[in-house]
Amino acid sequence: MAVLPMLSVNCDRLNRSLFQLAEIGKLPNGGVCRLAFSTEDMLARQLVQSWMVEAGMTVRMDAAGNIIGRYGGRSDRAAALATGSHIDTVPVGGRYDGCLGVLAGIEMVRVLNENDVRLYHPIEVIVFTDEERSVIGAKAMAGEIKEGPDYYARLDGTSIQTCLQKIGGDWSNLAAAKRDRARVAAFVELHVEQGGVLEHEGAAIGVVDGIVGQYRFAVTVTGRMNHAGTTPMHLRKDALVAAAQVVLAVNSIAVNTPGEQVATVGFIEASPNATNTVPGKVDLRIDLRDLSQAHLESLVTLMKGEFAAIAATTHTQIEMRETLHILPTLAAPHVKDTIQKACESAGLSYLHLPSRAGHDAQEMGRFTDMGMIFVPSQDGLSHSQDEYTSPEQCAQGANILLQTFLALDGQYAIRPTLPSP
Ligand SMILES: [Zn+2]
Repeated sequence: MAVLPMLSVNCDRLNRSLFQLAEIGKLPNGGVCRLAFSTEDMLARQLVQSWMVEAGMTVRMDAAGNIIGRYGGRSDRAAALATGSHIDTVPVGGRYDGCLGVLAGIEMVRVLNENDVRLYHPIEVIVFTDEERSVIGAKAMAGEIKEGPDYYARLDGTSIQTCLQKIGGDWSNLAAAKRDRARVAAFVELHVEQGGVLEHEGAAIGVVDGIVGQYRFAVTVTGRMNHAGTTPMHLRKDALVAAAQVVLAVNSIAVNTPGEQVATVGFIEASPNATNTVPGKVDLRIDLRDLSQAHLESLVTLMKGEFAAIAATTHTQIEMRETLHILPTLAAPHVKDTIQKACESAGLSYLHLPSRAGHDAQEMGRFTDMGMIFVPSQDGLSHSQDEYTSPEQCAQGANILLQTFLALDGQYAIRPTLPSP
C-alpha cells in the first residue's frame, strides 16, 4: 500500500456542521426535537444529502429510507467500508447523539476528497431511518424486519407505509434494502458514549467491545385483595410485599453476580392502589442487559429461582413473561484492534467498554464486521438538552474514525473476506 499523507479532520468545519444541523428542530431550552418522519427530520435529511454531494459523494435512498452517500474507491467492485448513524432525535434530544456519527463520516470524506485520496474500497456514509424509536432503517439493512406494518406505526397512528413514502422509501419493497458482507465489508460507527464512564476514567476514546443484549420481562404478582384493617397479618397474600422482594432480588442478582450486567425494575403498578386495601395484584417490568447471551440466560434462571422462592413464602403467584429479547452484538476483534492502534498512534487515551444503549451498529453487526468508537459525554448526559461533547473531543473521535478507515482499507484489500468473529 502507498503511504498516505497524515490526514486529519477539520475540527471547526465538523463542529459548524453539528451546530447547523442542530438549528433544525431547535428547542427554546437548547435541546433538539427532530422526530423521525417529521418536517424537521425531512429538512435535516435534505441538508445532510446536500453536504454529502458537496463532499464528493453520490447519494441514493433505499426502500427503508436510509440515505446512503457513497465515495467511490479505486476499485468500485470492492465491498464498501461503511460508517454513519442517525439524525432523528428523541422528543428532547441533544445535538450530538447520532449526528456526530453522520457528520464525522461526511467530514472524513471531505478530507479525503480535498486531498485527492481514494481508498481501495468505496466509502459509504449512511443515515439510518428512525433509530430512536423503531431502528427500522438498520434492521431493514440487516434483513431483520420480522414484524408487520402495525408494529412500526407511529404513536399518532400514522402508518409506516405513509411515513416511508414521505421520505422516499417503500414498505412493500423493504426486502430490497437488505445488504450483505459482499456489499458492506465493515461498519464502524462513531457515537457519543451517553454515559459517564469515559469522563470518569479520564479516557478520550472508548473502544466498544460490543452492544449488549437486552431482555425485558413483564412480571405479574397475584395475591389476594382484602381489607387492610380486618385481615390479620398471617392471613394475608400481599402482592406488593412480594413485589418489593422481587425488586430487591433483581437488584441483588445484578449487584452480587460476578460480571458487568445491569438489571432494573423501572415500572411498578399496584392494584387497587388504595391506602386501606391489601394489594391484590402488582405489575412490574424488568430490564436486563449484558454483552453475553449465555450470561443473560443464567441471570434469567437465577431470577426465576428467586421469584419462585418469594412466591412460596408470600403465598402469592409470580408470573414472568418475556416482552423483548435483543441478542448482543460483539464488535469484530480486528476492528477493535484497529481502533485501539489508531488511538495509540494518535497518543489518545482509550478504554474498552460495552455499549449498554442500542445503536444502528447493533443491527449492522449481524451481517458484517462491526466496530464502534465512543467519545465522552459530559456528566454522562444524553437524551437531554444538556448533552455536550467538546469540539476537540468530537474531532478526536472523527480522527480515530478516519485513521481506522485508512487502516481497514489496507487490511481488507489484502484479505477481502476476513472471517467474522
Ligand atoms: Zn444515537
